Amino acid sequence: MADLYVDGKWRAAVAGGHREIRCPADGTLVATVSEATRPDTEAAITAARRAFDEGPWPHTPERERGALLLRTAGIIERDAKEFARAESLDTGKRLVESEYDIADVVSCLRYYGGIAGTDAGRVIDTGRDDAVSRVVYEPVGVCGLITPWNYPLLQASWKVAPALVAGNTFVLKPSELTPSTAILLLRALEEAGLPPGAGNLVLGAGPEAGAALSEHPAVDMVSFTGGLETGKRIMATAAATVKKVALELGGKNPNVVFADADFDTAVDFALTAVFLHSGQVCSAGARLIVEDRVHDAFVDEVVRRARLIRLGGPFDPEAETGALISAQHREKVEAYVAAGIAEGAVLRCGGTRPDDPALANGFYYPPTVLDECRQDMRVVHEESFGPVLTVERFRDEDDAVRIANDTEYGLAGAVWTQDAGKAQRVARRLRHGTVWINDYHPYVPQAEWGGFGHSGVGRELGPTGLDEYREPKHVWQNIQPRPQHWFRG
Ligand code: NAD
Repeated sequence: MADLYVDGKWRAAVAGGHREIRCPADGTLVATVSEATRPDTEAAITAARRAFDEGPWPHTPERERGALLLRTAGIIERDAKEFARAESLDTGKRLVESEYDIADVVSCLRYYGGIAGTDAGRVIDTGRDDAVSRVVYEPVGVCGLITPWNYPLLQASWKVAPALVAGNTFVLKPSELTPSTAILLLRALEEAGLPPGAGNLVLGAGPEAGAALSEHPAVDMVSFTGGLETGKRIMATAAATVKKVALELGGKNPNVVFADADFDTAVDFALTAVFLHSGQVCSAGARLIVEDRVHDAFVDEVVRRARLIRLGGPFDPEAETGALISAQHREKVEAYVAAGIAEGAVLRCGGTRPDDPALANGFYYPPTVLDECRQDMRVVHEESFGPVLTVERFRDEDDAVRIANDTEYGLAGAVWTQDAGKAQRVARRLRHGTVWINDYHPYVPQAEWGGFGHSGVGRELGPTGLDEYREPKHVWQNIQPRPQHWFRG
């Protein structure tokens, strides 16, 4: 077992620890990987620091840094089957979904590889002949990149790609539950020619393997995607050494359906919005906010179709969604459903573990719909991160916007109506980082991704995503230095 990548070498954990990775769909052993502790992470930080301070990576022309990403994309595309299989085994998600994710990873790397070298900064008109002035972009330095388990490789790529293009060095710490594709990514970067120390990988639990990334003075920036409470802790810790911090946290995303929406399409997307990947999606449309006039018929149809969703393992061609990531996570989802019912929600479907013996060894939980919900219920305002749809009603446009914005999060949301003017008005009023009109879930690497409120700090993807990883620097040059004679004599 040598799957930590430090200073260009694969090695085992200093303390010799290891962790078994088991598939959440059936408990089978997927891999046994090294379990890092603080000394491993500190060694990785030291390597990244040296690679930044001594080069060559930060001084490699940006186009060449982009070319490395393009080569890496080609390697991942070549090995896409292996990547997708590994992602499915770690997460339990259906193979077809992992295949989409890996294709998105390739697009992400190509996007950042493609924009490399296209923005040289700007020249400022000094109004003088004896001076030139310009703003250039410098890498931030050593980046600690911490990622979650729901889209393991995609989340890592969203950080690794812009960090590298901008000339940073990094230490990546993926979720301890899903390390396999991070290992494959570092192998692909190595094959593509990444210099030693420019990219490092540590595996292990957050407090032991991850915490040093937000604490260590040699780290300049920590970029984190994960839960709200962890994000707050990381931000507070990073304050001690005044690190730059980028946070992509959770969401409690409204899916607003007006009575004039295309009924069948809106129902169909309401299901995908929340039940894709069993609700383990930060942008999941977990709050259905539906106009009173159409509420009964709409919810009846959502419930009818939710009951038909077939659960199964990654390689089951009949399965439409998979297991939850862990026993602990399933218990958390169950507790939210129980709390909702205790607070007055009406359970319309789901709500108990499936009794199919074929699913007995996995952490399955069925699509669940809770009707007649109110914003003050915990299941409505906190993130269950499971296949749980809460339904609230609204009277008119103002009411819909008020309910949809009544959340401490602000990651994403959708509005469904055939009235184009209303769609644009409501979309503008929603305080959420991404708003889809008559759609749900599409993302494009060219557009910024990030949230308002407690959903995060900063943006990933798009040109602004690159800005997270670089510092604008004003460079003024007097090109004809001469004595100024401020003082006579
Ligand atoms: P989590 O916060 O438990 O863990 C995320 C990562 O942080 C893991 O790698 C974990 O090991 C690490 N970690 C935990 N404690 C740490 C510490 N003290 N110091 C450093 N690292 C630490 O989140 P999770 O359960 O893995 O992921 C689910 C969450 O991620 C959900 O809340 C979801 O909304 C969020 N998420 C957000 C986005 C987004 O784009 N906004 C995308 C995906 C997931």
